[in-house]
Amino acid sequence: MIVTKTIIETIEFLKSQFPSSIGLVPTMGALHTGHINLVKRSVNENNITVCSIFVNPTQFNNATDLLKYPRTLEQDCKMLEEAGCDVVFAPEAPEMYPQYPSLKINFGRLEQILEGEFRPGHFNGVGIVVSKLFNIIKPNRAYFGQKDIQQCAVVNCLVKDLSFDLELIICDTVREPNGLAMSSRNRRLSSDGFEKAAFLFQTLQKGKELIIRGSTVFDVKKEIYNSFKNNKDFRLEYYEIVDFESLEKIDIIDPNKKTAIVIAAFLEEVRLIDNLVF
Ligand code: AMP
Repeated sequence: MIVTKTIIETIEFLKSQFPSSIGLVPTMGALHTGHINLVKRSVNENNITVCSIFVNPTQFNNATDLLKYPRTLEQDCKMLEEAGCDVVFAPEAPEMYPQYPSLKINFGRLEQILEGEFRPGHFNGVGIVVSKLFNIIKPNRAYFGQKDIQQCAVVNCLVKDLSFDLELIICDTVREPNGLAMSSRNRRLSSDGFEKAAFLFQTLQKGKELIIRGSTVFDVKKEIYNSFKNNKDFRLEYYEIVDFESLEKIDIIDPNKKTAIVIAAFLEEVRLIDNLVF
């Protein structure tokens, strides 16, 4: 496994390998089993796997979140080597952005709803960095996690609208034994917070169960909002029941379509997101 810091050495190394296929796993590091799962899938499906580790400043709309984002490159590299990764592309910000990009990518409705509403500019930053990574690595396949459901939709839009010649592969969310979706941000939780955070997934499961038993969207949301009112540990940003394709809120469940329940909430000043698709 090699670790590259510059765009040029990454491009030159990849060219020198004459790979029959390249798999790319874009990450912001502080890796966990969720990331490693994506890497292993890529290793199985491609000749060469590149994992990028870059805490992308243009996708952070909160300076403290950027500052506090965990950085554990040495440990990450050990995990990646064990998983069979070939290249770790870990540039610093000035390498990726010699100047702050003037380009703005507008994803329309997708960036006005859910994460887009609460994190203005976030998806523009995601769109820019993912496009740059696709242009640098030129992957045949790119691997993303279902945990970031709206990011998957944004990247899908990018690939279609800009004709990136690659296959997008979305992998299931990997969870802790208590149900909490694995996330680099979980490291910022206390051990007490880590246990309490399981509540998020419980509300998703509860919502799904109620819907399957015939409750209306209105009643499910009322019940969940009440459970958050009674739980002072969390500050809920949203809990929405949406159409899986468009991610638009729905009032009535269509049994012929996939539904997603999506949530974002703060616990111990850490912003956690999760979703359940059924
Ligand atoms: P991040 O480092 O948080 O930007 O995540 C890098 C990639 O890993 C993204 O495609 C995420 O959706 C994916 N990912 C993060 N957490 C998980 C998880 N618990 N299960 C599956 N994929 C994940």
